[in-house]
Amino acid sequence: MSPLSRSLIAPPDLGPWPALGYVDSPLDRACHLRGEADALLGHKEAGFYLLGGELVALKGEGPVFDPLFDRAAAEAQGRGAPLFLGLAPGGAPRFAMGFDPGRREALEGEGLTVTDLRSIAVGGLVEARHLGPIACGKALYAWHGRHGFCANCGTASHIIDGGWRRDCPSCGAQHFPRTDPVVIMLTTAGDQCLLGRQPHFAPGMWSALAGFVEPGETIEEAVRRETLEEAGIATGAVRYLASQPWPFPMSLMIGCLAEAAGRDIVVDRNELEDARWFHRDEVALMLARTHPDGLFVPPPIAIAHHLVRSFVETADA
Ligand SMILES: [Zn+2]
Repeated sequence: MSPLSRSLIAPPDLGPWPALGYVDSPLDRACHLRGEADALLGHKEAGFYLLGGELVALKGEGPVFDPLFDRAAAEAQGRGAPLFLGLAPGGAPRFAMGFDPGRREALEGEGLTVTDLRSIAVGGLVEARHLGPIACGKALYAWHGRHGFCANCGTASHIIDGGWRRDCPSCGAQHFPRTDPVVIMLTTAGDQCLLGRQPHFAPGMWSALAGFVEPGETIEEAVRRETLEEAGIATGAVRYLASQPWPFPMSLMIGCLAEAAGRDIVVDRNELEDARWFHRDEVALMLARTHPDGLFVPPPIAIAHHLVRSFVETADA
């Protein structure tokens, strides 16, 4: 694409700042009630999210579906221990209940809609207030699914505290659900920002670089290391913008803006398909999905979208 100029192409109207996905859960986590979670199962207004791996079961006709089931319906479809997510405004307890993803067709045969959480978030298939609790439940189930045995001695462990701990009956070790910190950073140099493509991205999509924080690292060090490793770009100042729970399977995305110390890109082809600089005007078109070559950035539910938008909106007048 030829260089874009503000004098030739009017910047797109990006509208109001969109909502980030999986944040602002309305639930009170009510940690003090976790030990009594079993008693709350019988609450007359208890609601259950039905989660099966990447899938979520929904009821109703749509286009906005209802993801909450009562106890009888949840126990009829679900398996495993219910996980206590907290209290909704008004005090109704909320739980996550697992189901076998292999039963997808059976559930659909009973009139339920079953689809993955990403599709639900991108498509607005449930009210936004449900996305945070569903993401929390999905991450918790993912952790339990991989941590059934004590990491200290190998004995099968037990779920405690409504799903917020596993205890080992043999060595006494306590295990807590983990969250993996990931830095995701938009590196900028004047009117340009650095975006990359991973091989599995949809054609035309470019995003901010990202990587796991390693033991012993600060957030700033992880940003600088990942940017240097993946694109060969050294960075100076690093500024935190926002964070986002990312339940695929259980990460915390830490969104940062970084200032590049140079512009010569060396792409690590083991990590990225490509990386290049984009002018501010060009990424504005990618945000608006009006780029002449069909290029775009991740949707508003993802923090990468907000990093790019922040860069576009903070242009010098
Ligand atoms: Zn043990």
